[in-house]
Amino acid sequence: MVATGFDVCVSGSGAVAMSLALSLSAQGWQVAWAKAPEPVSPGAPDVRTYALNARAIDLLERLRVWPALKAFATPVSRMAIQGDAAGALSFSAWQQKVTELAWIVDAAALERLLGEALRFAPRVQVVPPVGDQPATVAASLLAICEGKHSQTRASLGIGFTRQDYGHWGVAARLQATLPHQGVARQWFRSPDILALLPFNQPDPDASYGLVWSLPRARAEALMALPPEAFEQALKQALTESDPQAAALVGDLTLASPVAAWPLALAQAQRWSGPGWVLLGDAAHQVHPLAGQGLNLGLADVDTLVQVLDEARAREPWRTPGDARTLARYARQRQWPTQAMATLTDGLLHLFADERAPLKTVRNLGMNMVQHLGPIKHWLASRALDS
Ligand SMILES: Cc1cc2nc3c(=O)[nH]c(=O)nc-3n(C[C@H](O)[C@H](O)[C@H](O)COP(=O)(O)OP(=O)(O)OC[C@H]3O[C@@H](n4cnc5c(N)ncnc54)[C@H](O)[C@@H]3O)c2cc1C
Repeated sequence: MVATGFDVCVSGSGAVAMSLALSLSAQGWQVAWAKAPEPVSPGAPDVRTYALNARAIDLLERLRVWPALKAFATPVSRMAIQGDAAGALSFSAWQQKVTELAWIVDAAALERLLGEALRFAPRVQVVPPVGDQPATVAASLLAICEGKHSQTRASLGIGFTRQDYGHWGVAARLQATLPHQGVARQWFRSPDILALLPFNQPDPDASYGLVWSLPRARAEALMALPPEAFEQALKQALTESDPQAAALVGDLTLASPVAAWPLALAQAQRWSGPGWVLLGDAAHQVHPLAGQGLNLGLADVDTLVQVLDEARAREPWRTPGDARTLARYARQRQWPTQAMATLTDGLLHLFADERAPLKTVRNLGMNMVQHLGPIKHWLASRALDS
């Protein structure tokens, strides 16, 4: 039997829902957590590694999840980005005057450790599913963190504008024969984008998380390959993009199964209303080329909890579901999310065009940004604090 008198019912089972439930509980709110039923047989673990920025790590630190998660995380000291015609851009932690540019974090460990922390959260009660369907309970505020396919968002009649890129993001773990030295590497290959994120497993110094975004048909063909043929295709793509690649990363072998996700740019038409609010991928979806989707979702969590706390202190007559309070959250989050969506979408289109003049211009542009300190710093700061 579920109690009543909840301030917030958090609906969703991913990192955004769990971070929100933990964060609200830590601030003294009574939380009902409506999660999806456990699958009868657990699926394969998520092979993705997430690049998390300073703001996301700060939130995980405050939620006391970071000390355990750090064993499954690797700091990035430098990012090296290659264009498709001698364009290059690099960012270093030293230049940006930070200890690291980002942390590369194991996606499955993040979700597991958030789930473990929730078992000990004092003000969080799990709402049992009804049969095989998740169920919500009455609360002043329903926080919808159900990801891009949210049914609750649809049942409230909130539109979700979605532009399918026709690309898939292929992810896997790799082991290299040379140490990664904390360097994240990305190649804009037109039309695909290939990223190697330095990671600490299985080899503490020489593993990578692969994120390779490609047209769907090519992704499907790659997914169907046996491991040795996939490794060969990856090697060929790296050598084509950069003759130095083999000397930088060595030979790469698969250290996990390969998985893929369809990629899209999406945005909910409204983010809040009386008694409800959207967070994470339920509100917005961006291309993973800048590794920002979850960073945006965790920044949503941080902002919503701050806005609710401020309203409780200054206007105690307002309930958490008060539409004016929630509109403040939506206003604060819309600009950074829009800016990131425009940046990733713009870069993607710029590098998808095969025409020769554009190819020259985009590579020249990269080299110019490399030498323009303030613009480079602005780009880095956007990524560090979404
Ligand atoms: C290849 C790839 C690489 C990426 N790399 C990065 C990266 O480096 N950095 C980064 O910041 N982001 C990255 N992202 C984006 C990141 O994965 C997402 O932004 C993030 O997972 C969104 O979290 P979420 O909790 O909002 O949604 P989800 O992770 O989709 O979780 C929502 C959960 O809620 C469940 N659910 C649905 N309906 C209900 C319901 N009615 N009740 C209860 N539960 C429900 C769903 O089953 C799901 O488990 C990447 C994405 C891809 C595809």
